Amino acid sequence: MLRLPQFSLLRPATLDEALALSAEHGSRAQLIAGGTDLLPNMKHGLFEPEFLISLQDIKELRGIRRAENGDLCLGAMTTLASLAANDELNRLVPALTQAAGLVAGPQIRSAATLGGNILLDTRCEWYNQTHFWRQALGYCLKKDGSLCHVIEGGKKCVAAASCDSAPALMVLDAELVFESARGKRQLAIRDLWRADGALHLALEPGEILVRVRVPAAALGRLGAYGKLRDRNSIDFPLLGVAARLDIDGKGLVSRAELCVTALAARPLAIGLGGLFDGLAVASEAFARATERAGALAYKRCHPLANIPGDPEWRREMVPLVVRRTLAAAAQGSGPVHPV
Ligand SMILES: Cc1cc2nc3c(=O)[nH]c(=O)nc-3n(C[C@H](O)[C@H](O)[C@H](O)COP(=O)(O)OP(=O)(O)OC[C@H]3O[C@@H](n4cnc5c(N)ncnc54)[C@H](O)[C@@H]3O)c2cc1C
Ligand code: SF4
Repeated sequence: MLRLPQFSLLRPATLDEALALSAEHGSRAQLIAGGTDLLPNMKHGLFEPEFLISLQDIKELRGIRRAENGDLCLGAMTTLASLAANDELNRLVPALTQAAGLVAGPQIRSAATLGGNILLDTRCEWYNQTHFWRQALGYCLKKDGSLCHVIEGGKKCVAAASCDSAPALMVLDAELVFESARGKRQLAIRDLWRADGALHLALEPGEILVRVRVPAAALGRLGAYGKLRDRNSIDFPLLGVAARLDIDGKGLVSRAELCVTALAARPLAIGLGGLFDGLAVASEAFARATERAGALAYKRCHPLANIPGDPEWRREMVPLVVRRTLAAAAQGSGPVHPV
């Protein structure tokens, strides 16, 4: 049995208290939301905080509401289960609710939060292991070591962004609202991830993610999420694809977005140019455009031996998942489980 290391649990009741504790304890403390990723990682010796600052009691981090300008505001502590079960959200942000509903299994989704999912650590077969296992291999440069087992001679970690909500929020142009003892900061989600799996988040010290804003213009659009994984009942993505299609007053596509995750340290937006512009979703031309989008994504996606699943097989699956996810968005029939 793997044991948790010793730590002190701090339970602030307000955001201000949490920000003060975060500033006081600095790098000796870590925030905990649902704990569904952090606690297993602590058992593996990947994180060794002296203090855990729990966000559970902070009301300001909860709630789903519409801002005055129509934007959708999702509290960082919103659970994935409540996102997935919300009919109104299924209509407004289908790719996001479908992605939330495919994270892990029901028990984990009832504790796991949107904030924790967005800020999830990157994953790698050589890293998400026990301390004993990693020590036997001489560790790796993401934690305690100096070499990478995935890329021989590699100087940068390529562990994979594995959070299912990420591509969905990318196609929705989401904005993240952070607070720290220094004040408030708003960051476009596309600027959150860096191309280094060991330092993959553009977070500043002591920052707490307070809420996610989805602009009004992105709400009520067609969307879907497709997820490739070993067991559809629980696993992390081997590939995750989110699609968004905006339809104009004449019933034609005016904007199409596609984003892929579980490749390297950050999700990858696949630029589609004007491939779908002016097409009716029920047309032959739309079906041909999904084929071309699949081919475009295949060119851009190069899965690595960082997470389970043969990288070549994962790459061959890219066009299939992309085509099916775009078709599901068009038909409103997502989510997509290709295997
Ligand atoms: C068996 C299993 C299967 C899983 N499958 C999947 C899967 O398929 N897809 C997937 O995406 N994830 C999966 N996960 C990982 C995890 O359950 C989810 O990503 C979950 O959404 C994490 O949320 P949490 O609230 O539990 O985060 P926590 O574990 O509490 O925190 C995760 C990280 O985010 C930080 N954090 C959390 N909230 C905030 C905040 N508001 N501000 C600043 N920092 C914050 C924490 O400090 C920590 O570093 C799986 C986990 C397990 C154990
Ligand atoms: S990609 Fe390389 S450095 Fe990063 S966790 Fe895996 S083995 Fe370690």
